[in-house]
Amino acid sequence: MKNVAATPMPDRGLPRAAGSLGSGTLTGRARAALPGDVGPSQQETVRLDVDALTEFFARHGRDLPWRRPEASAWAVLVSEVMLQQTPVARVRPVYTDWVRRWPTPAALVAAPVGDAVRAWGRLGYPRRALRLHEAARAIVQRHDGAVPRDLHALLALPGIGDYTARAVAAFAFGERHPVVDTNVRRVISRAVRGIDEHLPASAADRAELESLLPADPALAVITCAALMEVGALRCTVANPDCAHCPLAGTCAWRAAGYPPGPERRRPAQRWHGTDRQVRGEIMAVLRAAATPLDRTRLRAGTASYAKSPDQWERCLASLVSDGLAVRDRRGRFALP
Ligand code: SF4
Repeated sequence: MKNVAATPMPDRGLPRAAGSLGSGTLTGRARAALPGDVGPSQQETVRLDVDALTEFFARHGRDLPWRRPEASAWAVLVSEVMLQQTPVARVRPVYTDWVRRWPTPAALVAAPVGDAVRAWGRLGYPRRALRLHEAARAIVQRHDGAVPRDLHALLALPGIGDYTARAVAAFAFGERHPVVDTNVRRVISRAVRGIDEHLPASAADRAELESLLPADPALAVITCAALMEVGALRCTVANPDCAHCPLAGTCAWRAAGYPPGPERRRPAQRWHGTDRQVRGEIMAVLRAAATPLDRTRLRAGTASYAKSPDQWERCLASLVSDGLAVRDRRGRFALP
């Protein structure tokens, strides 16, 4: 999912020099999308309007708990993991309870893994709760309980990928890194490349954004956060609100007349009867149970969601295999 970022350290506010440090530039693939273009040899420099982005972020950036000055690096990391493929509205209450209960990695490590899985609730993809617990343990063991600032140290934490590591380094520590999620990629693709393309972010996208970001780290962080906000609030997948977009004046896709992009592979919307649903219902029953449940009781509460007994068994086995559920000697099931 897309996240919306925290503002940078140390004061998590807009940089004092925001708006005065110019714009990132890119020798433009975007120009190549414009009518009449004759090829790369005549490309012009495409500008990412950093001034407009910083002003937009100052005026329209949402007040989110992980952006506030009191949000620690750990809180930012928690938010970034929770926001993966999960909307802000669903994350906010779970995040708030989580960081209040476990304000440090050490606090989470001291809690049973099952408590973390239970607190994850219905955020979805509950293996993220396990990964957060593992990351917290690694932070305690390798970094004395403090979330590392160094990108490579962040990347070395269990379950922390390219996006999350850069987001934490940027939004928690004010480091200059290209933070590219699917929202940012879409904005860059349209505004800079002039192409309406919807693909997962890649290393090439990060390299491109890095070339566009201003040199000043604080301003680069704000630019990343603003791009995320533009992607979330203006440059949405289906209904881009160009009239109120800070990049409207320089957007290559808009200037080209919104040419259709490659056909988009739409994610499957089906949910009912899927393994994800069955696993989710089994997890919901296990979370609500005060004591381990035998197979009969567990089935009674969840089997109707499965299309077949085999599917139900497969889903239960996968939860045990993933470490999200455990089976005791009496064959009863519970959270880990
Ligand atoms: S002008 Fe429209 S298409 Fe271009 S970045 Fe803004 S919202 Fe997206």
